[in-house]
Amino acid sequence: MTDRVDLLSLPPAEAAAALVAFAKAQGVGAYRGRQTARHLWAAPAPSFDAMSDLPKAFRAALAEHFTLPRLELTTQQASTDGTRKFLFRLHDGQSIETVAIPDGDRMTFCISSQAGCALKCAFCATGVMGFARNLTASEIAGQVRELALLDPPIRATNIVYMGMGEPMMNWEAVSASLSILNSPTGFGIGARHITISTVGVLPGIQALAARPEQFRLAISIHAPTDDLRHTLMPVNIKYPLADVIAAAAAFDRRVTFEYVMLGGVNDQPAHARELAALARACRAFVNLIPLHPGGGMGFTPTPPEKIITFARTLRAAQVETAIRRSRGMDIAAACGQLRVERLARRRPAAADEHREIDVA
Ligand code: SF4
Repeated sequence: MTDRVDLLSLPPAEAAAALVAFAKAQGVGAYRGRQTARHLWAAPAPSFDAMSDLPKAFRAALAEHFTLPRLELTTQQASTDGTRKFLFRLHDGQSIETVAIPDGDRMTFCISSQAGCALKCAFCATGVMGFARNLTASEIAGQVRELALLDPPIRATNIVYMGMGEPMMNWEAVSASLSILNSPTGFGIGARHITISTVGVLPGIQALAARPEQFRLAISIHAPTDDLRHTLMPVNIKYPLADVIAAAAAFDRRVTFEYVMLGGVNDQPAHARELAALARACRAFVNLIPLHPGGGMGFTPTPPEKIITFARTLRAAQVETAIRRSRGMDIAAACGQLRVERLARRRPAAADEHREIDVA
């Protein structure tokens, strides 16, 4: 039993091929292998035994040769706005967080790519926790699988890699998980509905750009000058703004800038003008993120009217801008400041710079 193959760690097409070969060897016909493969991601089953459309003896044979590792759901919280937060325990005791955000007919999952994070952004509680380890591809995609296994299931229409961790610091596993989420033999979620958010780790941006699918890229800018960005995001020393903007300009799809509004820190009129220049240089869309009303990590929120003025300055400079609605505020207390606020989908702004925006 020790050398059973973990089916969820294989690329979906490879797992399907292994199952078809196994089914043939068991004398039950290739279609039984294809049926089993559907239960990995597309129509997930919690165990082989639960695959009730398969013969019992075949289910037992599968369990002897393969495994379907689960993530243990330890806690869940529901916000009054429908946002739900889930805490999973991994096999080695590490914990990660996943958030499901309903919005009309969309259901966006914010998923984690690392347990903890090494990058120590000044405004982020995950950074304070430090880095524990990278997640595997099946642990990353497994968060989506686990929510699809709930009763009733929650199925993602959109994915954002904005949970714990910096996805580009775990590119190999993130890349493999992208294939699972996007593949027709996996979850079949369209690439345009999957966004990877990075603080600007250049090799990862280049690797994402090299993939043929239209995955989306979001970059956490948070400060429009190197001097200020150094103080908020130590990663800026290794990957300074000019290089990040150049990588964004070279990316062949529209990039989104994330910009958390920190009262008295990065919310002055000059910051808006500097940010506009950066956004124009790479045709980026800007998402302004209000800080949690209570503040946190030593920062205070920018008042809503000042955020609106900031947005108007950007729009006046021909930069498409939205102010993100905050979601799940009442369940955010225990998690990294941005890890809930970063999630809600952006609201495209009208061209009219004077149009007010939906501020939570
Ligand atoms: S904001 Fe992202 S990259 Fe920065 S410390 Fe938090 S999880 Fe890490």
